[in-house]
Amino acid sequence: MLVKTYNTDIEHQRETGHFTLGIVRSMNRSVFDNYRTEWENDEVSVKVPFSAAGVGTTIVLTSKFTGKMMLLDVGDGILRDLLLSGNTNFVSDINPIALSHGHFDHVGGLHSLFGFMRMMERTNPLNILIPTGCSEAISIIKGYRDLYRTSLPFKIWYHELSQGSGFDTDFFKTKSFEVEHSSFESDQGAGVLEPALGFRVQIGETVVGYTGDTRLCSGAETVVRDANLAIIEATRKETPAPDSGHRVHLSVEEANELGKLAKEYVLIHKVPEMPP
Ligand SMILES: [Zn+2]
Repeated sequence: MLVKTYNTDIEHQRETGHFTLGIVRSMNRSVFDNYRTEWENDEVSVKVPFSAAGVGTTIVLTSKFTGKMMLLDVGDGILRDLLLSGNTNFVSDINPIALSHGHFDHVGGLHSLFGFMRMMERTNPLNILIPTGCSEAISIIKGYRDLYRTSLPFKIWYHELSQGSGFDTDFFKTKSFEVEHSSFESDQGAGVLEPALGFRVQIGETVVGYTGDTRLCSGAETVVRDANLAIIEATRKETPAPDSGHRVHLSVEEANELGKLAKEYVLIHKVPEMPP
């Protein structure tokens, strides 16, 4: 529904450490519907309630047989998005959570989610899969456990994964693959890669691949190859020239090429269109 329309000229482009925020001519509040994606088959429902670069990305996998849920990344706004489902079963149904890397738009919702689970008195342990050495995730998780050590009714475990690691629950079988991602596009900080993973998750016979944030690399190809659904980041509108320096993200064109390796794919993590 169109709530309100803003009509603005392009005023400026603002460079952040993470991406270039393009200010667009005309938008409305429902523009954020453009950052929502859904897919399903007989075994699993995949919802991306929201994904935009430098804002937040959350992917929710739900097993159709059991209702159990797995999260891929936990961006800001996740609690609101989960509550929009109309019930609070997610409080105990979520396990595990897999985090692709430690940037704020992928881990920013953890504190809210932990807080809600604590308030609702979750009791079953929560497993969180993180890239080895992901200091942001480790400090958030450890900090939360320390803060509420006498009043947290459930355990929060983290597991550091690397190339080819696996982590299985009864409902979600996860394999991780290293991908190539860093904080800065251009040559600033060139070559300093963050701990970053893509994941392949098997639910029944269905495989969902998620690239996380990455430039083109063999890990990203492995993640999406032959997946029933590949969820691929497509941050950049255009592919930079080959000599343009250090790369951080995929372009839409590169993501579409990568998607051809999978049976079906969706593109997420686009640069958001924001009012000035
Ligand atoms: Zn991101």
